Amino acid sequence: MKKVHNFTAGPCVLPQEAIDKTIEALKDFKGTGVPVISISHRTKEWESVMDECRSLWRELLNIPEDYEILFLHGGASMGFLYVAMNFLEKKAGYLETGVWAKKALKEAKGLGEAYAVASSADKTFCYIPKDYEIPSDLDYFHITTNNTIYGTEIRYDMDCPVPLIADMSSDIMSRPVDVSKYAMIYGGAQKNVGPAGVTFAIVRRDILGKVSRYIPTMLDLRTHVEGKSMFNTPPVFAIFVMNETLKWLKSIGGVEAIHKINVQKAELLYGEIDRNPLFVGTAAKEDRSIMNVCFVMAPGYEHLQDEFMAFAKERGMTGIKGHRSVGGFRASIYNACPLESVQALVDCMKEFEQLKK
Ligand SMILES: *Cc1c(COP(=O)(O)O)cnc(C)c1O
Repeated sequence: MKKVHNFTAGPCVLPQEAIDKTIEALKDFKGTGVPVISISHRTKEWESVMDECRSLWRELLNIPEDYEILFLHGGASMGFLYVAMNFLEKKAGYLETGVWAKKALKEAKGLGEAYAVASSADKTFCYIPKDYEIPSDLDYFHITTNNTIYGTEIRYDMDCPVPLIADMSSDIMSRPVDVSKYAMIYGGAQKNVGPAGVTFAIVRRDILGKVSRYIPTMLDLRTHVEGKSMFNTPPVFAIFVMNETLKWLKSIGGVEAIHKINVQKAELLYGEIDRNPLFVGTAAKEDRSIMNVCFVMAPGYEHLQDEFMAFAKERGMTGIKGHRSVGGFRASIYNACPLESVQALVDCMKEFEQLKK
């Protein structure tokens, strides 16, 4: 097989160990003689995977006992809707830091009063707004901790006078998080914790059941709390791979260990972007994401964009094209992206510089 360095934004690179375990389970799931994609979710073998996965989440993120851990369908995009359905009674505030944040806000607007408390739309979301106050009369305040498209990130757990709800699709498990600061954390698994097809939600029990609207059964988070994420058929295959991904994360030392490596990878790549005269970063330095690194050709070198893309591709780099709304390049360096891949990209940038200077 061709050696590639995969920087795709999602679905994306997964740990090889998790992939190998999945291939085994596709032949024989836990000695049942049945492939994991053909197992009934009502078997004890499957229930043991659900239990193991929930306890890995609890252990790795240090999730307090008064929080439920749910595995759902519909992606983070469905999450935008059930957040508003379950928690918006009078008024909700959103931090508008990108397209995903806007989409989350749109769903809330469809159900009631919701608005952007602060926004960085004025500069194509290249920074995280800082000068704003969170009103204390909100039902909740919604943030997107990592802005996958623009490469900005809120890398701390903020104090919030109202329940704080976070879409952590693209930075979950990349750093230690104080879960107790949040009323709910949710996201699609397909960036850092598994393949596409499953969504995680971590919800503090006491915030449920406070709105007066009718909530359709499948969108009512209480349905999934009561059904232990098996009210209907869960995405068995995606949860299996997520479980293996978390087992890998635990085996290498958990979230604190991976955070150190993530910082190292990000510093290596940003260091090169800042040093190399051919390239320039697009996100405000103080808000740079350690998951998605966005950069463009520096002024005067714009004409070399396609050439660098081809040059990098020849050397095995894949998925470095920036999102169409930003252009340039984006290297997604999620948990499972090895340091060697980041080094390979940096080497490639250096080589290109030598060629063009
Ligand atoms: C990818 C992404 C989404 C969308 O997730 P889906 O599972 O495709 O709905 C939402 N928010 C963020 C921050 C993302 O990175």
